[in-house]
Amino acid sequence: MEQRKQGRGRHQHFIGSWARLNCENMPVLPAWLVRSNLDDPRNIPYLLVWKDDRHDGKIMEVVRLGHFVACGREGNDYVELKRTDGSTTVLRIVWQMLPRNGGRALFLFCPWCNTPRRQVYGWEWDSVSGWSNRVRSISWRCRSCARLRYSSEGGYLRPTGLGRLGRLGVMLRAYGSLPRPKSWLPYVFTSIDDPRLDDIVRVNRA
Ligand SMILES: [Zn+2]
Repeated sequence: MEQRKQGRGRHQHFIGSWARLNCENMPVLPAWLVRSNLDDPRNIPYLLVWKDDRHDGKIMEVVRLGHFVACGREGNDYVELKRTDGSTTVLRIVWQMLPRNGGRALFLFCPWCNTPRRQVYGWEWDSVSGWSNRVRSISWRCRSCARLRYSSEGGYLRPTGLGRLGRLGVMLRAYGSLPRPKSWLPYVFTSIDDPRLDDIVRVNRA
């Protein structure tokens, strides 16, 4: 079960003069965050806000995270990710036993490759834009289906000066060992009375 109402290219984002199509630079939704919503006895949706803290603090992505159990014999768990434009991604939740301690871990089922994943991503490179440094919103999917890589997998993608799009894959080696970048996690709001929400709105109005 999935919905793909996402329009193409409606939400383009410019991510800098040097494109870094690494998963660490894309909005990520980890499975543990979904689990915290499931564990919340209030059974309420969460508001997730990805803010560009490295630059101007602008809101780059907003999702309403809700959880529901489908009717029917299977009674599968689903998480619904709804953007402000109404586009919705529904991901099935799967639990897998952990071999060591007998506990169970939550995974998100990527609807594109039908694989349980620990996190899903909301952007990919906008290949039709003709620019190497543009990304676009996509329905949420795993890192490999969003064609993202870990920054540790190589240097930066060189965006300009090479001419044709087909040569963008030229990689530049990173010198030395750089600290591993952190994932771009959202701010999580479980209440609209949260004062942090006021701060974010204020910055984005200014
Ligand atoms: Zn996938």
